[in-house]
Amino acid sequence: MNTLIKLFLAIVIFPNILIAQTSKKKYEYNIDLLHMSNDEVRVSFAPPKNNLKQGKFIIPKLVPGFYEAMDFGQYVSNLVATDKKGKKVATERLDKNSWMIHDLKNVSSISYKVAGGWNSLKQKTQGAKSPGSMFKKDSVSVINYNSLVGYFEKIKDIPYQVTITKNKDFYASSALDYQQKDKNTDVVWAKDYRQLVDSPVLYCVPDTTWLKIGKTEVLVSFYNKKERHYSKKIAQEIENILKNQEAYLGGTLPVNKYAFLIYVESSNQRGYMGDGLEHSQSTVCLYYAGNMNFLSDALRRVASHEFFHIITPLNIHSEQIQHYDFLNPTLSEHLWMYEGMTEYATIHMPIKQKMISLEDFEKSIEEKIQGMKEFDNKLSFTEISKNAMERQDQYMNFYQKGALLGLCLDIRLRELSGGKMGTQDLMLMLMKKYGAGKYFKDDDLFDEITKMTYPEIRTFFRDFVEGGQPIPLKEYLEKAGLNYDEATGKVTTIPHPDPKQLALRKAWINQ
Ligand SMILES: [Zn+2]
Repeated sequence: MNTLIKLFLAIVIFPNILIAQTSKKKYEYNIDLLHMSNDEVRVSFAPPKNNLKQGKFIIPKLVPGFYEAMDFGQYVSNLVATDKKGKKVATERLDKNSWMIHDLKNVSSISYKVAGGWNSLKQKTQGAKSPGSMFKKDSVSVINYNSLVGYFEKIKDIPYQVTITKNKDFYASSALDYQQKDKNTDVVWAKDYRQLVDSPVLYCVPDTTWLKIGKTEVLVSFYNKKERHYSKKIAQEIENILKNQEAYLGGTLPVNKYAFLIYVESSNQRGYMGDGLEHSQSTVCLYYAGNMNFLSDALRRVASHEFFHIITPLNIHSEQIQHYDFLNPTLSEHLWMYEGMTEYATIHMPIKQKMISLEDFEKSIEEKIQGMKEFDNKLSFTEISKNAMERQDQYMNFYQKGALLGLCLDIRLRELSGGKMGTQDLMLMLMKKYGAGKYFKDDDLFDEITKMTYPEIRTFFRDFVEGGQPIPLKEYLEKAGLNYDEATGKVTTIPHPDPKQLALRKAWINQ
């Protein structure tokens, strides 16, 4: 009886709430990319219906995937609130990223100006540029909504409708579907703030190529001032990477649609600089480079890394990431996994899939060892992860030692399982257990992984991730028939490995 009533109520009430939410309560935003002045964009929105005497309006201090305060509110100026008669309503700026809007229930419009966070990739600004926005009136805009759109502290988890006024020749490349209302107007919907911020967009005259990898639709969108027909060439490289990632991930890519938004600024220097940020269904990759020959290497490193993030943190993450606080986030202790395991997969996949030679792989291990030497080798990775905002001096070590931790964990798992299980299998198991909508508790992860694997793995985590013991690289590489000379930093193949070493190496890297 009880169950029956509950069931009945659930059926009747739930759709009503749903209808009320989608039809009435939403943020309606307008962004004008056409009438810019000084590369500043005009933004306005109608607050959702509410009964609040006042409301705190927030623009993020930082966003998921970055562990440094970026204060996106710093780009917002001239915020004005008006009622339906057009009369000004009092507002006050509380700090860099928040404003108090008085008499909120009677406010019908709030407008402000937003400046781009960067103009050129050569500009030295604090932090990365991939989570920020840039606007160039007649050529290109890279938009991360966290720098343009905000929310009220007390009005969260409702949809966003964003109307964008733009140059008639511009096309919106994004994981979200942009509907063209007329030649100068696009409209896009997001189910909530998190999804909007998770879906950047590249606006420019299109240079796009679509790929189909298994069941996944992949958009490759490209912008460079000089090279205006280049996406096809990049798409070929990306297709090769993704097909190998698909095989590496057991035959399917865990996403239906994915967009690569790639912006290249030409420089007159040798080499290149890459900056990327991962999202659930897209990535922004920014490259500053002397010529286009660098691209295949750059895509293999940056685009591949960002795509691998669909495993973690996007499908395997803690509650701090699931319930992300854009103003005062608490950080998870598992950056060793989010960044370390992602970077490990990025260097492991090419050898496992036979895209590179064993010597090339040995070189990439050497690079990581060399990189790790610039950091403190005795710190607990869980500790610096929780304090990543304060420990920016150590943060980049998650890409160096973090990747090598992944390598050691992989070898250890292969050893314990007689070659049958490695980190590839572990990550797939974790993804199955959790997935995008289900989080783990920070304190439980090591025990959960131990339950899925071997008791010895708990010791591994205790010593090398929670504790500050240096990772046993020499010992572990030797198990797989590789020699690491600690004096010179060289990694080489042992000339006559025994059958045990050979078997482990075969299982680990297919060599
Ligand atoms: Zn990353």
